[in-house]
Amino acid sequence: MTATLIDGKAFAAGLRERIADEVKALKDRGITPGLAVVLVGEDPASQVYVRSKGKQTVQVGMNSYEHKLSADISQDELLTLIERLNADPAVNGILVQLPLPSHMDEAAVINAIDPDKDVDGFHIQNVGRLATGQNAMVPCTPLGCLMLLRDQLGDLSGKSAVVLGRSNIVGKPMAQLLLRDSATVTIAHSRTVDLPQLCQQADILVAAVGRANFVKADWVKPGATVIDVGINRTDDGLVGDVDFAAAAQVAGAITPVPGGVGPMTIACLLANTLTATARANGLPDPEGLTP
Ligand code: NDP
Repeated sequence: MTATLIDGKAFAAGLRERIADEVKALKDRGITPGLAVVLVGEDPASQVYVRSKGKQTVQVGMNSYEHKLSADISQDELLTLIERLNADPAVNGILVQLPLPSHMDEAAVINAIDPDKDVDGFHIQNVGRLATGQNAMVPCTPLGCLMLLRDQLGDLSGKSAVVLGRSNIVGKPMAQLLLRDSATVTIAHSRTVDLPQLCQQADILVAAVGRANFVKADWVKPGATVIDVGINRTDDGLVGDVDFAAAAQVAGAITPVPGGVGPMTIACLLANTLTATARANGLPDPEGLTP
């Protein structure tokens, strides 16, 4: 391997330590950040995510409020809970674990969250704020990718960036963040023509496709920084969207899977909860946790 390994696990651990320090300072002023996580139904993967979110929230000294609802509750009952959490001053962040059961309208539920407590950054107002350069809550996974990229490369301005994937939770906000840092950004998707040739131009390549080992080594520009968002379960265990072993011979720096972007997502959820708490109390945004 010639590429530098971007150790997201270590970076996320450092970030959590910093957040814990900031939480301690807030507690000294009588403020304890609180994160409410709402889980509807019993999807096994969602249960695992919610458990580790709750655990890490408590580890950094925040209050964690878990609301587990049965899969057959009505959308109105869920909206009533969200209204209650919106009005609760002890709750600074609200996260509704997705996916929701099929009888619910996900957009209606997400848009019922107070945008200033929307620590997932999926509310339509936060999407608009991010696109227009205002104080948004930024989706956690792309925020984590941005932190890793800045740490690795410093100034991103003028870099050529290709984002593979155009989902609302990863691809599009990732592209917005890179654009905001003055990279020249191309968003690719399933209809993009000649993906390998496009990727070969990229100083920064972010893969968020959801296909195991999709990005081949000869798509990678020599020396490029490769961020692999993909999480794919295969017979060989968890793998990313990038053919890691081969791509690491060409790239300048690359994130592994697991241990790259994954750990950054929950750390950034905690960062967003801290930011939301600071804003709710009229304090400045914590340094380095917002774009
Ligand atoms: P989506 O399925 O919502 O989006 C996938 C994107 O990839 C789409 O825009 C799709 O294009 C594009 N795509 C699919 N096939 C191709 C292809 N053959 N060529 C080019 N583009 C293609 O996925 P998400 O954005 O939600 O997630 C992407 C990956 O990231 C998944 O593996 C997911 O598990 C992982 N993930 C990891 C997180 C973490 O914490 N590390 C958090 C969130 C996601 P089109 O729009 O044209 O269909």
